[in-house]
Amino acid sequence: MSVLALAGGVGGAKLAEGLAAIIPPGELTVAVNTGDDFEHLGLRISPDIDTVTYTLAGLNNQEQGWGLEGETWNFIAALERLGGETWFRLGDRDLATHIERTQRLKSETLSAVTADFAKRLGIRQAIVPVTDDPLRTMVQTDQGLLAFQDYFVRLRCAPRVDRLEFPGVEAMKPSAGFAAALADANLRAIVICPSNPFLSILPILSLPGIRDALEGRRVPLLAVSPIIGGQAVKGPAAKIMQELGLNVSSAGVAGFYGALLDGLMIDETDRALAPEIAGPAIHVGDTMMRDAGDRRRVATEVLAFAERISRS
Ligand code: GDP
Repeated sequence: MSVLALAGGVGGAKLAEGLAAIIPPGELTVAVNTGDDFEHLGLRISPDIDTVTYTLAGLNNQEQGWGLEGETWNFIAALERLGGETWFRLGDRDLATHIERTQRLKSETLSAVTADFAKRLGIRQAIVPVTDDPLRTMVQTDQGLLAFQDYFVRLRCAPRVDRLEFPGVEAMKPSAGFAAALADANLRAIVICPSNPFLSILPILSLPGIRDALEGRRVPLLAVSPIIGGQAVKGPAAKIMQELGLNVSSAGVAGFYGALLDGLMIDETDRALAPEIAGPAIHVGDTMMRDAGDRRRVATEVLAFAERISRS
């Protein structure tokens, strides 16, 4: 019985790692956001795919929260000496990923490249980009329309977000791997990881057919809230919620996903919010995933929650 997880980068990778630890490898598909992808220094960068891949391979840099363990920075230092663009930091080892991906994309799809990299790094779960088309999140802000990485890395999420846009998305299609996972007759649950709902999950939901497929689901769809005690564990999710006029809490997350959710796991800190959340069933637990044990525990609780929803 398979599980489909929808993921962005860091929060997505943490729960994906927990799920990977408790589900047989052939039964987990992680569908990863590609709205953060961009071209930089002539290279094709897929930050969320790399975060999920490095994490499932056990190669991720835990302290930094992105990139590879044991990374060195000779390339970026040398680039700086030459007056090159250094606002987006690329580690020496990480650079190999981007260079090799860029080469291969001349003749292969992102899905094929992602699957091969995962296999070579010893990952037995399926990591699928949500689309092979050029999904590119644009952020409409008080400083104008910004490409995602300009907003996120160069301007450090300082501009006020008014709206997110996905130019051309109406003509794109989900990747074959994502579509197959959604249609899998053995699917037992769909899990929205505690990823940024606006920057990581909304691009996925914006792809043609995805919202309809999720609305027509035959299995429970659950999310783990990325908001704990009114704050994001990391990143701008809470800031964006406030800027969009949403309630900055797990109740706001439930409201944002609306009728898509059968269940929402919220943190113990937010136990008092449970009665206020209309719609999904609520499971309260410790959702802070500090280490591998936490990730496994949250994944176990999420699947048990799905099981309870299925039976009810
Ligand atoms: P990004 O693409 O790298 O920004 O990563 P994601 O969108 O996947 O994850 C960012 C979100 O993950 C943020 O909104 C965080 O609040 C959330 N997050 C990160 N770590 C944890 C955690 O341990 N528990 C929970 N509940 N949320 C987390």
